[in-house]
Amino acid sequence: MSHGRSSDNKPPKRFPLPLDKVASPSGGPRGRAGPVVQREVLRPQAHLHQIEQDRRRHTVPQGVGLDSMPVRLRMVERLRADGITHTAVLEAFARMPRHLFVDTALVNQAYEDTSLPIGLGQTISKPSVVGTMLQLLCARPGLTLPHVDPARPLGACLEVGTGCGYQAALLSLLARHVVSIERLRDLHLKARSNLDVIRQHVPAWQDVRLVYGDGMVGHPPQAPYDTIIAAAGGSALPQAWLDQLAPGGRLIAPMEDSRGQGQVLTVVDRLPDGSLQHTRAGAVLFVPLKSGIT
Ligand code: SAH
Repeated sequence: MSHGRSSDNKPPKRFPLPLDKVASPSGGPRGRAGPVVQREVLRPQAHLHQIEQDRRRHTVPQGVGLDSMPVRLRMVERLRADGITHTAVLEAFARMPRHLFVDTALVNQAYEDTSLPIGLGQTISKPSVVGTMLQLLCARPGLTLPHVDPARPLGACLEVGTGCGYQAALLSLLARHVVSIERLRDLHLKARSNLDVIRQHVPAWQDVRLVYGDGMVGHPPQAPYDTIIAAAGGSALPQAWLDQLAPGGRLIAPMEDSRGQGQVLTVVDRLPDGSLQHTRAGAVLFVPLKSGIT
């Protein structure tokens, strides 16, 4: 067996290879260092026209290891296993690309059941908590009222705390129309640009009216609302929300427990006779409801 030694008994020279051994158009010669495979030239930067095409198509960022639909459907299955069984709610989760609402660095966590930072100390809520709230709204007593379209069970909906706009986007698939208020200008603008992207991604998109303002006063111009949902919790429910809740309507909001035991999810129904009925739906942890705008 040859050990590759030349006649003067010196070991063969392996490095550097002579240039003619490095590559050839036919796929590379076999030199002493083994086969040399010719590689395609790697381009670290895409051509400008290609970047523009991708931007228009709003493609999922490449290289993040995320094929979004199967991952999203797995999240939906976990939600179902956790007790969220309302078909329209599950369908909304299946249709809405949550990864398009979070920063690129967090894309791989977008379909985990976790809250994620969205900037300015705020967070996008956990899917299971959002699902629980949406399901509670979809099961409200006023659903049987003649003006409610079963395909849009949330009717006229008010959201307090737009954040990055994810929950607002889900609401838009379940409501006749949605008004969403945010008190932090930069997040309001972020939600605007996120929804501009989503508008082109999700068919039959129902537009959301985004308002920059203090949600503690609700939004009187489009009141009353069949459903009101708050993504931030205070020590009491603002009177304006109760005033803007339609008969047969349901409000759901985190609220400080009066015995100082953290926040509880509070559900308020306006019964057809106009009276209010309060119930509690478990302990939660939301960012604080604050007054004024920034
Ligand atoms: N639903 C959001 C979650 C946002 S976190 C999402 O899907 O991303 C709660 C948001 O409530 C924060 O952005 C916070 O700024 C906002 N918020 C708190 N108090 C508010 C108020 N009085 N009016 C409007 N928004 C408020």
